[in-house]
Amino acid sequence: SSIFAGVELAPRDPILGLNEAFNADTRSTKVNLGVGVYSDDNGKIPLLAAVQAAEKARLEALPARGYQPIEGPAAYDSAVQKLLFGEGSELLAAGRVVTAQALGGTGALKIGADFLKRLNPASKVYISDPSWENHRALFESAGFEVENYPYYHAASRGVDFSAMKAHLGSLSAGSVIVLHACCHNPTGADLSAAQWEEVVSVCRERGLVPFLDMAYQGFADGIDADALAVRLFAASGLQFFVASSFSKSFSLYGERVGALSIVTAAKDESVRVLSQLKRVIRTNYSNPPIHGAAIVAAVLSSPALRQQWEDELAGMRERIRGMRLALLDAIKAHGVAADFSFITAQRGMFSYTGLSAAQVDRLREEFGIYAVSTGRICLAALNSKNVDYVAAAIAKVI
Ligand code: PLP
Repeated sequence: SSIFAGVELAPRDPILGLNEAFNADTRSTKVNLGVGVYSDDNGKIPLLAAVQAAEKARLEALPARGYQPIEGPAAYDSAVQKLLFGEGSELLAAGRVVTAQALGGTGALKIGADFLKRLNPASKVYISDPSWENHRALFESAGFEVENYPYYHAASRGVDFSAMKAHLGSLSAGSVIVLHACCHNPTGADLSAAQWEEVVSVCRERGLVPFLDMAYQGFADGIDADALAVRLFAASGLQFFVASSFSKSFSLYGERVGALSIVTAAKDESVRVLSQLKRVIRTNYSNPPIHGAAIVAAVLSSPALRQQWEDELAGMRERIRGMRLALLDAIKAHGVAADFSFITAQRGMFSYTGLSAAQVDRLREEFGIYAVSTGRICLAALNSKNVDYVAAAIAKVI
């Protein structure tokens, strides 16, 4: 018999499964609010003009395709560091940050998890309740036991900060705490600056290992403003991890461009940490791909392209904000009495709407509007043509 005879069928990825159902739907009014991708007002994933310019220059130069360094090119890693820690960062000047190019934010989390497992095999990993659905699976596949810490407060559609803080304060030293640096996925509910300072203090007092996941830098308030959590941890003197991604901010999803940065206590520690991180990478995929990272590095190192990118990123951010306002207004206009003002308080691409699984089913069956059964919707899939249709449908199902 086949060596695969006993292989069981794995469950479908819930969000990718939703996409398949959406693609098969023949209604012309269908709307996909499930997947976490930014679309422009025409419903298309944009190819940013700054990316096009860098790509064109690169293709004209016809570069050879040798292997990259295991940790990616220095120009890319240094550009990543400046975005996260700021141009004048003391940590960077002191050589306390190690950065390696990674296969998107997911790949950064994975090499970070593998490194941590070798470093501290007995520690547990804590993720927010709820969190990005891949966090648990990813850290479990690196061999960790994963638990939740309290986060979302359903009644206020915000953060239950006192419960979160109390829980973090009860954890044992060495516990790994995965934190969404901004634009929390799936809830859209972020910590305030004062709350971040308290989280930093708890991490210091308890000896926790912070692992920041920064998938949406620039989607809430701007590049530097959205790096607040990274900057506060940087100022704390703690050691910590940051997984970052250009999938959303450069609209380079399929190129898989991200990075893992690790803050150490001193320069000599950085050298040793990088040497071990390179072993993790070498035994996974040897070295990272060239194209996406070269585009990002070219854009970030050219003042003109960088300005163009910042303007385009601001355009995406403002369009989402505009859609939050438009959805709120339209829901009111369709006579809904319930308070939906949380939509404009939440940040980033997502909102936990509080819609029940049954209401989400009705949206799909009666209106061809696809959302995650938890009630998460992606605001970046709304546009001037579909927002009123979506609001009218929400008004009908609640
Ligand atoms: N982390 C969070 C919180 C995300 O929402 C995502 C993408 O949806 C990722 C990581 C992964 O990003 P990437 O596509 O760059 O792997």
